[in-house]
Amino acid sequence: MQSLQGIAVSHGVAIGEAVVIDNEGFRIPKRTVMDDALDGELARLDHAIGAVAKEIEKNRDRVSEELGEHYGAIFTAHLEMLHDKTLHNEVEALIRDQHHSAEYAVSKTLRRYAKVFRNLDDQYMSERAHDIFDLERSLLAKLLGRRREILSKLTTPAIVLAHNLTPSETAKLDPRFVLAFATEAGGPGSHTAIVAKGLEIPAVVGTGLFLTEVSGGDIVIVDGDHGRIIIQPDEKTLQQYQDELEHHRSLAVRLATLRDLPAETQDGEPIQLGANIEFPHEIQACLDRGANGIGLYRTEFLYLGADEEPTEDDHFEAYSHVVNSMSKRQVTIRTLDLGADKMGQLPRGEEEHNPFLGVRSIRLSLRNLDLFRKQLRAVLRASVLGEVRVMFPMITTLQELRQAKMILNDTMEDLREDGFEYDEQIKVGMMVEVPSAVMMLDKLLKEVDFISIGTNDLIQYCLAVDRSNKDVANLYRASDPAVLRLINTTLRAARDADVPVNVCGEMSATPKYIPLLLGMGLRSVSVSPSAIPEIKSVCRSVTIEQCEDIASRALQLDSAREVDTFLQEEIRNISPELVV
Ligand code: PEP
Ligand code: MG
Repeated sequence: MQSLQGIAVSHGVAIGEAVVIDNEGFRIPKRTVMDDALDGELARLDHAIGAVAKEIEKNRDRVSEELGEHYGAIFTAHLEMLHDKTLHNEVEALIRDQHHSAEYAVSKTLRRYAKVFRNLDDQYMSERAHDIFDLERSLLAKLLGRRREILSKLTTPAIVLAHNLTPSETAKLDPRFVLAFATEAGGPGSHTAIVAKGLEIPAVVGTGLFLTEVSGGDIVIVDGDHGRIIIQPDEKTLQQYQDELEHHRSLAVRLATLRDLPAETQDGEPIQLGANIEFPHEIQACLDRGANGIGLYRTEFLYLGADEEPTEDDHFEAYSHVVNSMSKRQVTIRTLDLGADKMGQLPRGEEEHNPFLGVRSIRLSLRNLDLFRKQLRAVLRASVLGEVRVMFPMITTLQELRQAKMILNDTMEDLREDGFEYDEQIKVGMMVEVPSAVMMLDKLLKEVDFISIGTNDLIQYCLAVDRSNKDVANLYRASDPAVLRLINTTLRAARDADVPVNVCGEMSATPKYIPLLLGMGLRSVSVSPSAIPEIKSVCRSVTIEQCEDIASRALQLDSAREVDTFLQEEIRNISPELVV
């Protein structure tokens, strides 16, 4: 048994067989080979060894010719390893005696060898482990044929373990077959994490390197509550997690009874509880959980899930499905937030050193007006179908907001000329997710109908911490007093200007922050559909007076740690069943 600590990004627990997608994207199956297929499997192995040997010989000859025998000798060492009798015997025994597939036997044996080398004190020798991984990759390439086994082609439920998953790869995961995932890379606020919540599967990211320690088919537990993964658990641990699974199931059943009850505090204050979605198909989950509306529709995922650039009609079709399904409930469509970790099929410009500070979000839209107009046309066309609001992401300056609104007005004129109907009074809002926007709120608020606080980015831009970098994850804290002050300032400014405000970042999907946010004056949140029952339950368990007391105490504390400890204690008293 081996236990690894990472960052919990999507709650819940899953137990299942691992599918390992290594750096190169190989998926190593642990098939069982039938008696009558054993000879065929051994022949596949021989064939792969022969083909890899030929490749190495070719490389050796070319390098010897161009650089001299001395360099060619590097490949001779690889060849010797490839032809080593003991190694062959070990791989063959796994196939013949254990009935493992050739790729699984190769991977298991070579990884064992690599581990021995890696643990040697001598640095030169320990680096030989790389040579062994190279050999493994070459053999797997021959045995598996295509390099990147497509994640979406899983056909039995499994736990995906990978070095990293991009938001678009994650978006393509089929939740029927992916029980959970864990990645070596990734940070707490990454969009990969957000998609995992949308898929409603447990996920842990940023564990550091571990893929060499695990083989496809190993039993793995992903503990998305504590950010832990456990490889080959012992009986006692397995039992403990089975109990945990049961606890989650019964909690979900209890919370489901709140579905048709309002999100209202004990003293009768109504709270708007909307849902964040990335894809139109999530609407069903929103309806099932009784969402008041869609507080944030991340439309850029239309690009991330598609092979070709979406047309105006593709946009319109997606939006009209969402608006119609929500039947008259408010739908806030956020314009494209492409860039940084969400590029989709769009051609990348120059490699950016700091993509989160680069051509992202509204900046990208304002530089690609065809793209922007196409989307705005679709949003406006959908606006006659229900209560649609449009929202601009990552507004940093007043000029940006004015420019975006000007393009919106131009698009309205074009539509009018083209004979389309749209809601001329459509509400226009912006996200507050950059500290400069908080500083300029008095002016910005005069030019919008509503604002929404995106804490995921606000934390990153306030604290100078990349939301997707595991190495600074400990600094990425919603509870940092600086972040709390920004939020408090925003809520006050919005109240003074009488402009509706909501929080749609992950902070509002975390039970312990709800009393604090309500105490600061917030009355509207938007969270992933899976978080709605818990958040509603917290709202229904508190009074505004109690929340105001919590907020005023939290705002006096000096550090994120103090705030976290304090809020954890409070939520333990308010909703003990939600505290893991
Ligand atoms: C945010 O930044 O909090 C937000 C809701 O937007 P996204 O996570 O899509 O950047
Ligand atoms: Mg954001």
